[in-house]
Amino acid sequence: MIAENVLRIKKRIEEICAKLNKDAAQISIVAVSKGRTVLEIEEAINAGLTNIGENKVQEAFVKYNQLFGVSQKPITDNLKPIRYHMVGHLQTNKVKEAVRMFELIHSVDSARLAAEINKEAKKLNKIQDILVEVNIAKDPDKFGLSPQQVQETIKEMSYFKNIEVKGLMTIAPVVDNPEETRSFFRLLRELRDNLKPITHNLLPILSMGMSDDYEIAIEEGSNMIRLGRAIFEQRG
Ligand SMILES: *Cc1c(COP(=O)(O)O)cnc(C)c1O
Repeated sequence: MIAENVLRIKKRIEEICAKLNKDAAQISIVAVSKGRTVLEIEEAINAGLTNIGENKVQEAFVKYNQLFGVSQKPITDNLKPIRYHMVGHLQTNKVKEAVRMFELIHSVDSARLAAEINKEAKKLNKIQDILVEVNIAKDPDKFGLSPQQVQETIKEMSYFKNIEVKGLMTIAPVVDNPEETRSFFRLLRELRDNLKPITHNLLPILSMGMSDDYEIAIEEGSNMIRLGRAIFEQRG
């Protein structure tokens, strides 16, 4: 089932990209595997996915050790390296473990958290790639910076030598009709585009779009979609 889901998703992405005159290879799929077993994750990897995302450090840690073992190499026979992503809210006291495991942390929503990540990354001699999470719909129940705070916060983060801000991430509000998410995705892309001149950094990654709205997110400029149910559950 997972393999079929992945095939169907890739086909959809190709159709959308063909219409947009874009290269489908530019769209990264992060398989968000919270609540899924290591076996399911391996199925996703065997279906060709190379980006695995988790939303809790503790759960990620257990699976990471099973998946990568002490060798830190995936136990699956896959020639492509597996990249591990943190997509959920990150608490300061979990930063140390997070920096050891994750190639990209999508959910950085304060300069204070970035400072902590910078500190731990420095100890490991690592440049930690991060995304800045934006609460684009200004939902009081969601994490993320308000759009107005983003420019100033990225400026503060630019002083940290062991982190690199690679782009922006958002979680769209839950809506009845996925079409209603379009304006939020567009806002995030515009926010990123307007930041370009001040950051000297292209902020190449826009992490937006989940199982119900990834098609719209891609149409609005997403190049990293985070899919859970679309990959791991029976659809259609
Ligand atoms: C769970 C989760 C996803 C995936 O959600 P689906 O709707 O199952 O695709 C994406 N991003 C974050 C931050 C998540 O926690």
